[in-house]
Amino acid sequence: MTIRVGVIGTGAIGREHIDRIENILSGGEVKAVTDVNQESAYKAVEDYNLDAVVYPDDVALVGDSNIDAVFVTSWGPAHEQSVLLAIEAGKYVFCEKPLATTAEGCMRIVEAEQKHGKRLVQVGFMRRYDEGYVQLKAALDNNDIGAPLMIRCSHRNPEVDENYKTNMAVTETLIHEIDALHWLINDNYQSVRVDFPRKTKHSHDELQDPQVFTFKTRGGVLINAEVFVNCKYGYDIQCEVMGEEGIANLPEVASVVVRKESKLSSNILNDWKVRFMDAYNKELQNFFDSLEKEGQPQGPTSWDGYIAAVTADACLQAQETGEEVEINLQDTPDFYKNGAAVRN
Ligand code: NAP
Repeated sequence: MTIRVGVIGTGAIGREHIDRIENILSGGEVKAVTDVNQESAYKAVEDYNLDAVVYPDDVALVGDSNIDAVFVTSWGPAHEQSVLLAIEAGKYVFCEKPLATTAEGCMRIVEAEQKHGKRLVQVGFMRRYDEGYVQLKAALDNNDIGAPLMIRCSHRNPEVDENYKTNMAVTETLIHEIDALHWLINDNYQSVRVDFPRKTKHSHDELQDPQVFTFKTRGGVLINAEVFVNCKYGYDIQCEVMGEEGIANLPEVASVVVRKESKLSSNILNDWKVRFMDAYNKELQNFFDSLEKEGQPQGPTSWDGYIAAVTADACLQAQETGEEVEINLQDTPDFYKNGAAVRN
């Protein structure tokens, strides 16, 4: 079975996903595209030699009866409308983060999906498909280190441009930890506080860098998550989970270790796209495979999108107030509990 895909948003990640679907993965084919910038949509058709219709907007694209699944890769504020249209039309959806820019928006999607009666939506949290995270999760689920007590993790980029402001440390960067960490330990967040260490000279007026977020979970785990987006030395994702019986670390990215001139060295990546290339491929392959085998997506749910939105809002409030902020998540509906093993 080939899933016929319509892509809403042919910017950077939209084009990358089109390339994956057409040239790397199996089980999907791009049959329609749209973008507010119509030139960009036509260019995608030309560049990837697509046999696809260019639509003026998401309403027209979703209305195409030849489309089975909608990829929402436009800018964040446009996601909610496109996802709701797709659910209403009973189409599968792969939505890049954020699912919606507000918790209320995510909840509207959650309600629409439940009303539809079957899972349709997968959110683009690709960390869950990274081989290192998969191994780390397996070790924790297997109780290899006993109950988790603490997590220390870092998200470091070599640099960011001038448009990157303090709040984007949450919405563009930490958001991936926010999703990955509660999934890793099958727990939910309870509160968050932010500390700002001395600011690096490589930052600018509107960016506090680095930042350290301290989460407490309902299960009592303390999480220390550092975001440092002008670290200079490379793109580096670290995660260490301390348990009652031992410690488990996210594996380092494989790189040749060289002994030369009295030095031991190996390379550190510079680019997040390269770091998570395999994860993106696996995430989308899993989306297509799940639709074929299970008739619904198996990856991060609309509820995970909701958790990310509520938690991100609390992080933003903590940045502004300097206070510890409660993360008030509603109880997980039964609809989303299957396989999620979330402690309420
Ligand atoms: P981008 O390059 O700016 O692309 C977004 C595209 O969507 C642009 O072509 C934009 O047109 C278009 N667009 C805006 N509003 C639209 C609408 N209402 N209908 C149709 N198209 C619309 O951004 P990007 O980097 O690809 O990011 C897209 C989304 O993916 C964002 O939500 C981002 O957070 C997410 N993302 C996720 C990851 C990940 O690691 N999972 C990585 C990168 C991006 P204009 O340029 O004319 O505004």
